[in-house]
Amino acid sequence: MAFKIYDTLTRKKRAFESIEPRIARIYTCGPTVYDYAHVGNFRAYVAQDLLRRWLEYRGWRVEQVQNLTDVDDKTIKGANEENVPLAQYTKKFADAFFEDCASLRIEHAEHYPRATETIPEIIALVQRLVEKGFAYKSGDGSIYFSIRKFAKYGALSKTNLEGLKEGARVSQDSYEKEGAADFALWKAWTSEDANVFWDAPAPLGKGRPGWHVECSAMAMKFLGETIDIHAGGVDLVFPHHENEIAQSEAATGAQFARYWFHNEHLLVEGRKMSKSLGNFYTLRDVLKKSYSPLAVRYLLLSAHYRQQLNFTFPALTAAAAAVERYNECYRNLKGYTPSLGVETSEGFTKKIAGGRKAFEKALDDDLDSPSALAAVFDFVREANTAMEAKTLGPEQAAEALALFDDFERVLALREEKRADAALAKWVEAKLEEREAARKSRDFERADAIRKEIRERGVIVEDAVAKNGKPKWRIK
Ligand code: AMP
Ligand code: ZN
Repeated sequence: MAFKIYDTLTRKKRAFESIEPRIARIYTCGPTVYDYAHVGNFRAYVAQDLLRRWLEYRGWRVEQVQNLTDVDDKTIKGANEENVPLAQYTKKFADAFFEDCASLRIEHAEHYPRATETIPEIIALVQRLVEKGFAYKSGDGSIYFSIRKFAKYGALSKTNLEGLKEGARVSQDSYEKEGAADFALWKAWTSEDANVFWDAPAPLGKGRPGWHVECSAMAMKFLGETIDIHAGGVDLVFPHHENEIAQSEAATGAQFARYWFHNEHLLVEGRKMSKSLGNFYTLRDVLKKSYSPLAVRYLLLSAHYRQQLNFTFPALTAAAAAVERYNECYRNLKGYTPSLGVETSEGFTKKIAGGRKAFEKALDDDLDSPSALAAVFDFVREANTAMEAKTLGPEQAAEALALFDDFERVLALREEKRADAALAKWVEAKLEEREAARKSRDFERADAIRKEIRERGVIVEDAVAKNGKPKWRIK
């Protein structure tokens, strides 16, 4: 069965086909780095991670861009309040974001562009829109996109936008616009921006980019004019994604994204978890209460991404228990020693094939993760029963473990054994010694050290970590 994905633009589940065979180009709207991300935000990033992992499972190579918005009203305000440079202020939250993503096992995107690093491309895009007559300069010096010039405006959100298009002036912001829903592409400098500005050629002038245009510029910079999938939470459908389509397609004349992927909200007592309502928990808040990040990940995967999900602590406790059941079964299978002379029971071999089929069928159907998890736990029950009854043959135990590995590629819920500090220190010292031995061409010594490390249950990988040292992990 082909992988089907729901597309917000056509309001249909459609078989996923990438422009270039076997390469899926994805753009995911990332965080504004003015504060720590909350669990609601991570619902979006975990849903996107599931999408990414499922595409990889099905043989696509994924090229993903996730932007960091590091200049906007909130980041400027935060930096000014703390009296630190903007880049210093946003770095703290960008670093925290990457740490949080790692603890939730969210795979790395290929590119993490920052708005402040994409200014030339943003300026070029705005200029192109002005030249083509889609954008105008208002009395306050800002450049706006004129939505009435773009006939398809509103196609994604399907809101009745007639009122907006007519251009009744609204006084909710201080910028002067021709149409109420026209949006800023380039914001003229004001004193509140202090030292945050770029000097762009006329007609843009001294100012900074609008939020929507950043995403278009970053998506096109890395992925080209037409991308395969564009993702974000449902709150971004309007106006953010509507505006992204308008400005990108007005500039290029090409379709911007072939599939629009939107996750529903994480709720707290029936309301969207959000900064503005104050009903949020950051991931850090939750981990401080001794919940594991895997329980959070499980909870977020336990509902279909297009269904709302309530965040509660009892649900998180139940999620932690499910993660433990998954890990316990895996550990038991790994440590399982078949009794002598066990007949391979055909029934269980069929259960392995059936488990894989049910898991794949669920995820092929628009990433139906609750059904996929149900398939996993059906299999866990079968495997536990077979292990207890000691009717599992050695080949079947190996096949069952292989099935678990397939689950794990997508779910990423396995507890890792972590080295304690003393062991970590010992390994690092030994690795340095080994490096020195290699450099002096004493390969015998280097091999002996490798063996010594292995005997402590540590595997040294050939890949080199970011710090330039060899990577290692506990067996
Ligand atoms: P923001 O930093 O507000 O732009 O949000 C970052 C991402 O989190 C976007 O994709 C939002 O749509 C998503 N998001 C924000 N709040 C929630 C929530 N309560 N549930 C699910 N996704 C959310
Ligand atoms: Zn965006």
